[in-house]
Amino acid sequence: MAKLLLSVDLEDVRDGLSDGHRYTDRVVINTDRYLEMFRNWNVRATFFVVGKVAYRHPELIDRIIKEGHEIGCHSSTHQHVVQHTPQSLEADLRRNRDILKKLGATEIQGFRAPTFSLIASASWAYQVLADTGFTYSSSVLPAHNPLYGWPEFGQQCKKINGLIWEIPMTVCPVPGLRVPIAGGIYLRVLPFWFLRFMIKIIQNRNRIITTYCHPYDIDTEQERFMHPDLDENQFYNWLMYLNRDSLPNRLKQLCDTYSVLSYGQYATRLESSNKHY
Ligand SMILES: [Zn+2]
Repeated sequence: MAKLLLSVDLEDVRDGLSDGHRYTDRVVINTDRYLEMFRNWNVRATFFVVGKVAYRHPELIDRIIKEGHEIGCHSSTHQHVVQHTPQSLEADLRRNRDILKKLGATEIQGFRAPTFSLIASASWAYQVLADTGFTYSSSVLPAHNPLYGWPEFGQQCKKINGLIWEIPMTVCPVPGLRVPIAGGIYLRVLPFWFLRFMIKIIQNRNRIITTYCHPYDIDTEQERFMHPDLDENQFYNWLMYLNRDSLPNRLKQLCDTYSVLSYGQYATRLESSNKHY
């Protein structure tokens, strides 16, 4: 059975806007919905947490830990990796880890770069990640993308410089449509029959399926505003709100069909087999 890696990138989309906090904070209500769904489906996920959100909602981090999910880092303020120097990234990661540890996360193995901003020109980041105690990263979108992408990375998990595993996003096997098919916006807007068909192809190639969702991906009551990182593009922003009500059921069907693991569980398996997948 194909393995499905389940994750939530725990961030507050309002933090990316200059005037974002005039809108309602929807992070807790949406994250609690994920927790309830995962409890009902009896699956464990990885929550890659932005430090700022942890400071704001310590009780939420406590609930995630008590439900048995994995806690990983998603930076302190959602600043993209390529905008850092090695020194500033290290300081950011240490702050991110410290707050999560203070809130009870005992073992933090993994990191996800904001907006998959770990690209070839920022590959120095792996040394920083290893130096700050991470054993895996899931930060690469191995395809061309309007924002960030590293197509030459390839689709297999790799141990970088013998230091740290990278678990890249699973992309659609159709040339010209190399999008991270089981994550965020794509998991919501692509026809579900197509998604399932593509996942079958990926499964037949003996590859894992990586998923990622955000609190807003299931939020049907969020106020309307222009999301960050979209260059004020109205069409992309329309997609940001599309089919949010479909996501819980789509996720459930995937979780019912495949063998669900957290990213950390999978990274541990990679390490124990210590070969390229
Ligand atoms: Zn993010």
